[in-house]
Amino acid sequence: MSIPKEKIISLFKETGALLEGHFLLTSGLHSGTYFQCAKVFQYPRHAETLCRHLADHFRSERIDTVVSPAVGGIVAGQETARLLGVRSIFTERAEGKMTLRRGFEVRPGERILVIEDVTTTGGSVKEVIAAMRDAGAEVIAVGAVVDRSGGNVRFDVPYHSLLRLEVAVYPPESCPLCALGTPAVKPGSRGLKSG
Ligand SMILES: [Zn+2]
Repeated sequence: MSIPKEKIISLFKETGALLEGHFLLTSGLHSGTYFQCAKVFQYPRHAETLCRHLADHFRSERIDTVVSPAVGGIVAGQETARLLGVRSIFTERAEGKMTLRRGFEVRPGERILVIEDVTTTGGSVKEVIAAMRDAGAEVIAVGAVVDRSGGNVRFDVPYHSLLRLEVAVYPPESCPLCALGTPAVKPGSRGLKSG
């Protein structure tokens, strides 16, 4: 059973993960939407709600281990693994290369589910997939809470996200929100109200 989009969006709004207004992003671009997935995961019960749907989606795949890219994917990976009753490990970048550290290992043929919180370009997930294959493991599928690519990101294994979220961004000189005359604020500024 899939989780209704409205339910996910209301969880995001409730926790400040999804804000509406006029924002100055760290990239220098402006947006009417600010999204920070970590803010919903600060509440373990919400992590459980979201990850239960990921776990249920992949339950029949006989997953051995969940692997996530640090840092963003770790909480979602851990919770999804808990709900599947399997092991959870994560990769980190060492000298630019995504790799297992901390003594984490996978064995040849191990059935891997890659879990990420948000996919934008899918770059980190692709690096995790490559690292797992280098180690001889079998990547079965990819799951994410949010696909921010507008459905453009593709992997060579099945991919399931709970929500597709397209966030429009604008250069300041052509920002329609600036044209309305309100100043752009940095997310997290005092007095910011969630949409
Ligand atoms: Zn603007």
